[in-house]
Amino acid sequence: MSTLCPKKDDLKDPATKKADRLKTLSSLLQEEKAFRKEQVCLAIFRTPVKRYSEITTLSKKLRDSIIDALGDEILSLHVSKTHNVEQACKYLFELSDQNRIEAVRMEFQGDHTSLCISSQVGCLCQCSFCSTGKIGYQRNLSADEIVDQPLFFAKNDLPFRNVAFMGMGEPFLNPNLFDALHILTSPKYMGLSERRLTLSTVGIPEGIARLTREFPQISLTLSLHSPFNEERNELVPFNKKYPIEELFELLEEHLVKTNKKTYIAYMIIPGKNDTLAHVQKLTSLLERKKLQHLFLVNLIRYNPPLDALSPSVQNEKKSLFAFKDLLEKRNIHVTIRQSFGSEIGAACGQLAAEYPRK
Ligand code: SF4
Repeated sequence: MSTLCPKKDDLKDPATKKADRLKTLSSLLQEEKAFRKEQVCLAIFRTPVKRYSEITTLSKKLRDSIIDALGDEILSLHVSKTHNVEQACKYLFELSDQNRIEAVRMEFQGDHTSLCISSQVGCLCQCSFCSTGKIGYQRNLSADEIVDQPLFFAKNDLPFRNVAFMGMGEPFLNPNLFDALHILTSPKYMGLSERRLTLSTVGIPEGIARLTREFPQISLTLSLHSPFNEERNELVPFNKKYPIEELFELLEEHLVKTNKKTYIAYMIIPGKNDTLAHVQKLTSLLERKKLQHLFLVNLIRYNPPLDALSPSVQNEKKSLFAFKDLLEKRNIHVTIRQSFGSEIGAACGQLAAEYPRK
């Protein structure tokens, strides 16, 4: 695991100064009364204030010492571009070392708004259908850089209900993930309900086990895409390290401990992973130990990179609905995930933050 999973000490980027916002504030405010830190955290996480110099509840001296240590801007990222279509807006964020990530805000029917956020610049996993994988791994995001994506939307009056870690990167390969989850959900900081968060993974056992222990109410999605190891090795190369049977053992433990619906993401690639044999094998995986009612299969439309040829929309739809019907006949809970923004490269598997593909 050590070669695959960078450690905190590997973060030698200029963002490091911003990476320890709460730690820096704690040491700056240690001589102050306890409520000072609460005042600062309130301003950072619960108000539209964007600069430390605007926190007028603090003395000028204190504000200046915070600015000396952290700079005036509260957020560790800024928007350099947005792309908008009817129900999706893609945000290209630039980080303090000029690396780039993307996040997407989607509006579903009935005022339901979701964010899709990133956990890494690029990705190690190299899933064959994914544009992020094609840019390679650049670096992990710090906890602040993860938190600052939803915080950006909150501070800019762009409300959201749910936050999904389905953007760039494999969240469980980032050692800063759990610090970020703590800041996002702690009532002392951003205070989002765990139930509003979803984490999507190719299947990293240590990460799944820790999420089950520490954040049992956060929803988990396993990106499966094929029930056959040989085929999944091609689509999701990390499968060679953690094969399907091992992952489903772990998912069973997760279901027993959390009694919470767990999602299986399945991107339909017409003519490849949508046969009757796939339906039968997938059903047999989900039927294990009678926990079937807690699994929900999320079928996803294949979204090719913007510059690639797409299979005909007609074929895709036929394939999606036929696969759904066959699963439903076997009493598997299944939905088709609404997919927005494919025309602006904002849909599942398309985020590349303008990096060239290798
Ligand atoms: S699908 Fe997710 S895990 Fe796979 S390469 Fe893309 S970002 Fe990484």
